[in-house]
Amino acid sequence: MPSAVVEAVAGGGGAGRKRSGRPAAAVAVAPHLIHRNKSCAPAVELLADASPGVVSQELVVGSDKWEAATVADRERHQERVQRYGLAHRRSQLMGGYLATVGTPRAVELAAALGSCGTYLEFRNYPRLARTRLHAARFCQRDKLCPLCAIRRGAKRLRRYVARVLEVLGERPHLVCVMYTHTVKNGPELLDRFEHLARALRVSLMRRRQSHRRRPSAWAPALGLAYSIEIKRGAGSGEHHPHAHTVALVPACLDLAEHQAELRREWRGITADSQQVHVRAFDYVLKGLAANEAAIASDLVEVFKYALKFSEMSLADCWNAAQLLHGRRLVGSAGALYGVPEPEDLLDDQVQEDEPFVQLLYRHVAGGWGGGGYELAQGLGVMS
Ligand SMILES: [Zn+2]
Repeated sequence: MPSAVVEAVAGGGGAGRKRSGRPAAAVAVAPHLIHRNKSCAPAVELLADASPGVVSQELVVGSDKWEAATVADRERHQERVQRYGLAHRRSQLMGGYLATVGTPRAVELAAALGSCGTYLEFRNYPRLARTRLHAARFCQRDKLCPLCAIRRGAKRLRRYVARVLEVLGERPHLVCVMYTHTVKNGPELLDRFEHLARALRVSLMRRRQSHRRRPSAWAPALGLAYSIEIKRGAGSGEHHPHAHTVALVPACLDLAEHQAELRREWRGITADSQQVHVRAFDYVLKGLAANEAAIASDLVEVFKYALKFSEMSLADCWNAAQLLHGRRLVGSAGALYGVPEPEDLLDDQVQEDEPFVQLLYRHVAGGWGGGGYELAQGLGVMS
């Protein structure tokens, strides 16, 4: 699971994880550093709400659980800053490449990428054992900038996890499954993308009209959300677009039969592919109850970034961004329709009077394309 995307909600660690040997100075916050009006006496009970798997139960400051949550938050934060540093570096390389392309559009984008993520302001909330991204400048060019793609994916994921849980709460007979729809590889990206996008549109139209005409294989999906991912086939090097879909279907559905029906229908629509894979979410396979961490760990597959930056050359990425400019790569229907798109790429903020410690990072260039984020200011007493 690409931790880059889950970071905002699921965290990779766990409350029981031991201290690592890594330096923790960057986020070394202690309860006594909080605001003067918010004395943090031991035994203040906190009901944390944002980091499933880490801070999902009542925490008491001074207790082992609180300490574990604090350590987990610190480690998660450090990993996150490191990841953002790598993403920012690729973004800067992309900006440099665009500057050499030299067209007015490319130069404009190079400037946007150049100023993206130059600083990041986090706020650590000692009483909540949480650290949130509070302010930053983002270019929002998700198809070119991995940093913005990571942030948008994380925010989308958080929103869809909440909606999925809401629907499952109202309709407990539903469970989450994942569809993967593929079309035949081809040398032309736009051709393959349009082919896949059209087949999805037809599938969803048939699903909508299922009650009026022949039943659609998608009919059991009472809610769904999908995203299109672009990559090159490992062997052929040809373009390999595919769609990941989370679908809420009745728990009693026979998935093998469901997959066979989806394949038949997909073959009829695409005329060149019957590659459809259906699998239940892990929590379903294990017979567990749905919760935020369980949903997020599989849903991340749908809301990870659309372009595999690490597997694409800068020229390839620029080509894909131009061809796919203005095209929708995500969609939803039924009970998952209407989840609002994130307006900004920051973390959801906590209430204003919650005391915090400001952590301001700036990106420092290093030799040979290295560098990363360095703490420019921290350990302040703010509110
Ligand atoms: Zn950006």
